[in-house]
Amino acid sequence: VNAVAGRADGRIVVIGAGVIGAAIARWLAAAGGTVVVLEAGAFADGASGANMGQLSLTDREPAVHLDLARESLEQLRGETEDIGFRADGGSIALTDPAQVEPMRELVRRQRARGLEVKLLEPEEVRSVEPHLNPAAVFGLAYCPHEGQVDPLALTGLYLRQAEASGAVVHWRTPVTEWVVASGRVMAAVTPAGAFRADVFVLATGAWTREVAGRAGVDVPIGYHRGAVVVTQPVPPAIRGPVVGGGFLTPSFISRDHVEVGLLQRVNGSVLIGQSTRHVEGYDCGLVPGEIASMVRNFLRFFPVLDRVDAIRAWAGVTPFTSDRLAVFGFCRNPRNLFIAAAFKGAFSVAPAVGRHAAEAIARGRAAPEFAPFSPARFGV
Ligand SMILES: Cc1cc2nc3c(=O)[nH]c(=O)nc-3n(C[C@H](O)[C@H](O)[C@H](O)COP(=O)(O)OP(=O)(O)OC[C@H]3O[C@@H](n4cnc5c(N)ncnc54)[C@H](O)[C@@H]3O)c2cc1C
Repeated sequence: VNAVAGRADGRIVVIGAGVIGAAIARWLAAAGGTVVVLEAGAFADGASGANMGQLSLTDREPAVHLDLARESLEQLRGETEDIGFRADGGSIALTDPAQVEPMRELVRRQRARGLEVKLLEPEEVRSVEPHLNPAAVFGLAYCPHEGQVDPLALTGLYLRQAEASGAVVHWRTPVTEWVVASGRVMAAVTPAGAFRADVFVLATGAWTREVAGRAGVDVPIGYHRGAVVVTQPVPPAIRGPVVGGGFLTPSFISRDHVEVGLLQRVNGSVLIGQSTRHVEGYDCGLVPGEIASMVRNFLRFFPVLDRVDAIRAWAGVTPFTSDRLAVFGFCRNPRNLFIAAAFKGAFSVAPAVGRHAAEAIARGRAAPEFAPFSPARFGV
């Protein structure tokens, strides 16, 4: 996983400096590309600065998605810098009886793909999470290879690696317009001027629909707002990330909800997610009572932590598509516009997405296994 097959000759503009844009810039610059990164805001202003850093495997489908997550873990294991990386297990808690059968099926499929994952009955959950309240769950899918990473450390590392290979990052430089001619993007226009390139990569997360729309590309990427509460550091109480199985029931994503999603950082603080709301205008505000309902929900799962102080909360907007699959590949028109957005929980896959995007750009097209993620499925 240490090299890009082929050279990324030419000039490439990457738009968005979240973890996906940073990973792509890093691999493109290492593969010989002349890389410029344009970021509308400051460091980690988007979802990459708001998330919890959970790394998952069990929920990754189709097979290519699981492969990306496995390759990413391998890349992260090889990083020599301290990025708060741990991969000693993680769980999906079934919070509704309707999740049990879909999870049984998911576990069966993932085991057939060689993933080590098992479905525990409520009375068995304490073998992997000693303080988890068995009465709060209808089962627990446990994978010993899941884990966590410090999201700011990883995003920052990739940007520094990109710069060390010659990439130039422009902060507070939003792309406001495009120059498009003869089916190609000629330039990305910003208040600091126009940036010309051979290939343009959109790694703009929740903003992708709006930014692509200005180039005449309507890619239906929606977004919702997620919120997180952080507590004071406490002695070890939660072994691995524990997230809810809500994604197993189709209607779940379309409504506002508070779902279990938590992990204990290496320094002892507990991150309590996740309150999801459908918002307009990238609104990252918290609503009254929201923190209390997140904490109350958390305490159903880990009642032992009822004396812990919550010290801060924040929110971010994160993208999704109607079929829950990412958008990854060149558009048909303009044909030199490459989109890499809407990967569910992108930290689990960003390291590998960076490498495969660089390869696809070097080759001029994404590899066939990425067909499920192709922008072509949306007619763009
Ligand atoms: C509360 C919360 C918790 C989460 N927890 C997890 C988790 O535990 N694990 C996990 O893997 N994922 C988690 N996620 C999801 C994860 O954060 C995202 O999948 C990931 O950060 C997406 O990365 P990105 O680089 O695609 O997008 P972003 O990090 O959002 O980056 C996109 C960038 O594009 C920039 N941009 C936008 N418009 C323009 C423009 N016109 N010109 C230039 N730049 C522009 C933005 O400023 C932004 O910096 C969570 C998300 C939230 C909100």
